[in-house]
Amino acid sequence: MNQTIIGVLTSGGDSPGMNAAIRAVVRTAYYHRIPVYGIHHGYQGLIDNDIIPLTPTSVSNIINRGGTILKTARCKQFHDPEGRKKAYENLCHHGITGLIVIGGDGSFHGLHALIEEYPIKGLGLPGTIDNDLYGTEYTIGFDTAVNTALAAIDKIRDTATSHDRLFLIEVMGRHAGYIGLHTGIGGGAEGILIPETPTNITNLMQKLEEGAQRGKKSSIIVVAEGDEAGTVIDIKEHIERHTNWEVRISILGHQQRGGTPTGFDRLLASRLAYEAVLALLQGESDKMVGMINQTIVLTPLMETWMKKKPIDPANVTMADVLSS
Ligand code: ADP
Repeated sequence: MNQTIIGVLTSGGDSPGMNAAIRAVVRTAYYHRIPVYGIHHGYQGLIDNDIIPLTPTSVSNIINRGGTILKTARCKQFHDPEGRKKAYENLCHHGITGLIVIGGDGSFHGLHALIEEYPIKGLGLPGTIDNDLYGTEYTIGFDTAVNTALAAIDKIRDTATSHDRLFLIEVMGRHAGYIGLHTGIGGGAEGILIPETPTNITNLMQKLEEGAQRGKKSSIIVVAEGDEAGTVIDIKEHIERHTNWEVRISILGHQQRGGTPTGFDRLLASRLAYEAVLALLQGESDKMVGMINQTIVLTPLMETWMKKKPIDPANVTMADVLSS
């Protein structure tokens, strides 16, 4: 019988909790006497044969660290069959029979392509701050990103209040408004603009005006970078042209991708990675390991990008009520 040997890599955008996932893959495999290799720089390391054995001590003291000890990368060559052929040869060279990829939907496309072409098993773990993957309620890193954005919003609110200003705060989310919605609700924002819901700036200005008439002198509007109303700069110019508000902008940017993972992300990453090793041992492949309602769910990789995870409409309605 062929022995299972696991390879693990992180790919695409990094997210807090990836290290906790790597650690859990290694420790679970070790418990089951399965060797594990770490692949550096995502698929690039697979093509360049940048592969090292990992032991339980290699993953000591990393559960609390943001980023990824394996590094991550975007790799053009992996889009080509030639690149994937090289990657497969290097997997064979190390005897790796099961690959665990921690990343977003782009990384899952790559894993699916490899599995379609070669006799290799592979599972995906949802590692992205955007929380936009179908098949899991939360992705690894989302909770930390929301908390990082909230810490920034709390500070900005102090200044907004001191100076009687309107702040537009841009958060990440080119295609998904999860970070925007959750930080907007948690930060008590007066407005939340996300790609999933139609944005009406006229209505927003009217709401601000009504607030001003009630004596509200400062406000915070959270804007997801993918909102159809435009960039925070466009929205600032529009509001200043039509109202007396003095508008300031804060773009939170990459700080949302880094930092110490929250307890929630550490637990989620550990559990999903632990389950991924068990699932590989049971012969599962071409699936993402996610969690819905506290239950582990395996979703075919293709579904994770073909099906859209809807934003919770109850949260949208509630946000509207609470910000009025
Ligand atoms: P994420 O996983 O965070 O969505 P990317 O979209 O940048 O990040 O994808 C990460 C990597 O996955 C890419 O650099 C590439 O190597 C690989 N990849 C993405 N899409 C494909 C595809 N259609 N075929 C093969 N590999 C892909």
